[in-house]
Amino acid sequence: MLYKILGKNEYEDFLSDLISKNEVIGPKKKDGAYSDFVAIKDPKEIDTDYQKTTLSPAKKILFPSTEDLVAFKISDTIEAEGIVEYEQKVLLGINAWDINGMNFLDRFFTTDFIDENYLAKRKALTVIGTDSVPTENNFAHHMNSEYAIEGFDLYFSDLGDRFFVRAATEKGNRLIEDFPRFLDTSEDDFKEFNRYMEDYRAKFKLNINMKNFIDNFESIYDKEQLWQKLAEKCYSCGSCNLTCPTCFCFNVKDDINLDLKTGQKLREWDSCMIPEYGLVAGDHNFRPDKENRLKQRYKCKLITFKQKYGKNSCVGCGRCIEACLAKINIAEDINTIMKEVSI
Ligand code: SF4
Ligand code: SF4
Repeated sequence: MLYKILGKNEYEDFLSDLISKNEVIGPKKKDGAYSDFVAIKDPKEIDTDYQKTTLSPAKKILFPSTEDLVAFKISDTIEAEGIVEYEQKVLLGINAWDINGMNFLDRFFTTDFIDENYLAKRKALTVIGTDSVPTENNFAHHMNSEYAIEGFDLYFSDLGDRFFVRAATEKGNRLIEDFPRFLDTSEDDFKEFNRYMEDYRAKFKLNINMKNFIDNFESIYDKEQLWQKLAEKCYSCGSCNLTCPTCFCFNVKDDINLDLKTGQKLREWDSCMIPEYGLVAGDHNFRPDKENRLKQRYKCKLITFKQKYGKNSCVGCGRCIEACLAKINIAEDINTIMKEVSI
């Protein structure tokens, strides 16, 4: 890791320079409390105090909601050609829990198989992180996701009159070399960074109890009445999956053009919370009940990948809580499960 300091005025110039040379995607105020990550043409457009975003910016860029995978032509034979689309982009202003969400997707899409479409976009992405204020539904500090140690090229922490900058990759080092106004850090800068991190961590207010969660989950796994109660109000709408930065399920389908001779095989986001997810040939549904679907979702988020990768696939962003019209709350449910097994 390379550590540098950048003054506030210099930061403005750094952004202008970056925007003039690259396609930059950053946070822009949308409506109400929400911001959206969109193309930025002027540093003044950037919503530096953003708090809420509906979708994770990294997932939106790297694993879009629909994506063509194969183009095909049908004549006497069928010709098919793979489609891998990517563009060099700079993702600016992504926070630590969304970087950690992206790190999970990086691992998922390159572990048991290599997803060329994801990987090409990921390699073409320069990631510049910065902290944002957690919402009241955020519990990233309990998921070790409030701080990022990898997955970014540069990360800016706001010390008031200057930024404490961490460069985690060669690409990040080159960005620093190309803008010769970064300064070396002093011992005092590190002390101030530590104070800053203490203040920043104190902003996470939502507390959950994850102690022995894997064992606790196991012990309540077959308590049908509990799962019925937790899922009672679920509409099976799938919004929790669609807004989650780590949900990776997709469906693949063929889309035939009007000429009936050409078409695309495409993928689109899927949701384990909708009834059709478990529907297979013969009209059999292996997960027909909403309580089983909710149980499966919590297992995937809080158990499966903890056992497989050593990390939860939930980064605690709180988006699923905010998106759920039925007010189903993963943080409250984690605490309910804990209470269920407490003496
Ligand atoms: S967002 Fe809420 S209502 Fe919709 S599927 Fe998820 S838990 Fe159920
Ligand atoms: S499960 Fe909910 S809180 Fe956890 S990462 Fe997904 S959207 Fe965020």
